[in-house]
Amino acid sequence: MKINNPIDCVIGITYNCNSRCQMCDIWKIKDFPEIAPSEYAKLPTTLRDINISGGEPFLRMDIPEIIAVIQKRAPKARMVISTNGFTPTLIEAQMKKILAIKPDIGISISVDGYGDMHENIRHIPDAWNKDMDTLERLQKLGMKNLRLAFTILPENVQDFAKVYDETRRRGIQFTHAFAQSSEHYFGGIQVDNHPDVKVLKEQYSYVMNEELKSWNLKRWARSYFAYGLYRFSMEREQVLSNDPGTRFFYLDARGMVYPSVVHSYGMGNIQNYDSWEDLWNSERADNARELVLTKGKPAWMICTARTAIKKHPLSVGMWVLKNKFGGVKL
Ligand code: SF4
Repeated sequence: MKINNPIDCVIGITYNCNSRCQMCDIWKIKDFPEIAPSEYAKLPTTLRDINISGGEPFLRMDIPEIIAVIQKRAPKARMVISTNGFTPTLIEAQMKKILAIKPDIGISISVDGYGDMHENIRHIPDAWNKDMDTLERLQKLGMKNLRLAFTILPENVQDFAKVYDETRRRGIQFTHAFAQSSEHYFGGIQVDNHPDVKVLKEQYSYVMNEELKSWNLKRWARSYFAYGLYRFSMEREQVLSNDPGTRFFYLDARGMVYPSVVHSYGMGNIQNYDSWEDLWNSERADNARELVLTKGKPAWMICTARTAIKKHPLSVGMWVLKNKFGGVKL
C-alpha cells in the first residue's frame, strides 16, 4: 500500500555536541559520517514542520548550506533550529547568513533549569549566562520566533514554572519535553525519569492555567501538549495516538530515517535511494511501521504530538473549553 508522504520531521544534522547533559550520551558518539548537504534535496516536498537538531547543529559549519537546500526543497515548511546555545558568537554569525535564506526561521534554546540548576544538568560552566547571551544576540538580529525548551528531570522539576515565567518576561515562547531513553537520539543512555509527583502537579497546573488565560490558539495547543506530557509522565500513556513513520519521521546525521526519535527501527538510509518515495514505500520502511505498532513504546514529544493535535481538533478544542473556564485540576 502506498503511504502518503509525511508532513513533519526532526532532522539531526550532526552527532557532535559541546554539551555534557546528564540525560544524553550523544556527545560520546565519535567518528560517524555526516551526509552531504545535497542529500537533503531528497526530502519530501510535503513537509510543513521541520526541526533541525543534533547533537549541536551549529557545530556543522555548513548549516547555512543545509538550510538553503531544505528551504528550496520544502519552501512551505516552518523551520526551527534546536540549539544548546553555548556558542553565542558562532550562532550569531551563522544566523546572519541563515536569516538571509529563511527570514522566519525559529530558534529553540535548551534550558533545563533556572541559573545554576541549568549548569548542573548540562555540566557546562556559566550555562545560563551563555544561553541568555545567545538569546539577546538573536533578539538584536530582529528574530521574533524564539523559545526556551525545558527538559523535565527529577532534579529540575521545581524550576519548570520559573523558566516558563522567564520566557513570558522576555516575550518569547516556551516548550518542554520529558527526558526519555533513545538509542539513536540520546545516544542510548538509560533514563529513569520519575519526578516528585506533588511538585510536578503544582508546576504543570500553573503553566497550563497561564497558557489557557490567553486568547491565543497556539498557547491553548501548548497547554494541551503540557496536559499530554503530564499524563505521559504519570501513566506512560499517550492522550492521543500519533503517527510515527507515517506523518512523521526522524532523519539522523548518517542519513538513516526512523519513524520517530524514540522508535529505533531503521526505515532505510536516504543515501541509498534515488527519491524519497522509493525509501518511504520500501519493504524496510513498512517493516519499521509494523514494529512501531507491535513493539513501539508510547511517546509524547512535541514533534510527534504536533501531528496528533492537528489531527484531533475537536477533542483538543473540548479540552480547552472545559479547562479554560473551569481551571485545570490535575
Ligand atoms: S541533550 Fe542535546 S545538548 Fe545535551 S548532550 Fe545531548 S545533543 Fe548535546
